[in-house]
Amino acid sequence: MTHVGCLYKVRSECSDGASHRSVYLTFDDGPNPLFTPEILDVLAEQGVPATFFVIGAYAADQPKLIRRMIAEGHEVGNHTMTHPDLSKCGFGEVQREIYETNKAIMTACPQASVRYIRAPYGAWSEDVFTASEIAGLAALHWSVDPRDWSRPGVDAIVDTVLASVRPGAIALLHDGCPPDELRQCTDAGLRDQTVTALSRLISALHDRGFVIRSLPQHH
Ligand SMILES: [Zn+2]
Repeated sequence: MTHVGCLYKVRSECSDGASHRSVYLTFDDGPNPLFTPEILDVLAEQGVPATFFVIGAYAADQPKLIRRMIAEGHEVGNHTMTHPDLSKCGFGEVQREIYETNKAIMTACPQASVRYIRAPYGAWSEDVFTASEIAGLAALHWSVDPRDWSRPGVDAIVDTVLASVRPGAIALLHDGCPPDELRQCTDAGLRDQTVTALSRLISALHDRGFVIRSLPQHH
């Protein structure tokens, strides 16, 4: 869980003035060889950018998907190498998880510029902020969470996002599944509901006057 004392260091919204009605789509826990291409297809059809917080071990296995993300105008962010709860890791391990993920992304796609990190489970800590800053990464949380990973149904995913979205919102979705959860349950890794919800969600956001944008520059 998020450590309340650290919240000021992590963004969960990107305010750029209410008049812009910008919203941001983020996908965690990929790249996944089955579902990431389907998510990318939907984004391409609708002409919408997104940010993928990838697991470094998966990026190393799926370099083509990292290159496709970048080639199609999406951003790739750091979601650690093995998806541990970083708040329970020593500083050296936190640094290694972050550094190796940046390296895996850059090895897959030298043109990638990694600007953001999202801690697995949103478990931020002082060590995570320090290690992220050293690596030149800004911490990014979320403000809208339809819990798509729990497979609540396509309607529930769409309705939950629409009920809480507002200008500057960052929506959390999942194109993959962490390694430990993949091992636990056969359905845990399925992202078919997310794929189906996504195209409906994008249309519904557009209908409401929202513009889906790439994440802004940070300092
Ligand atoms: Zn995750």
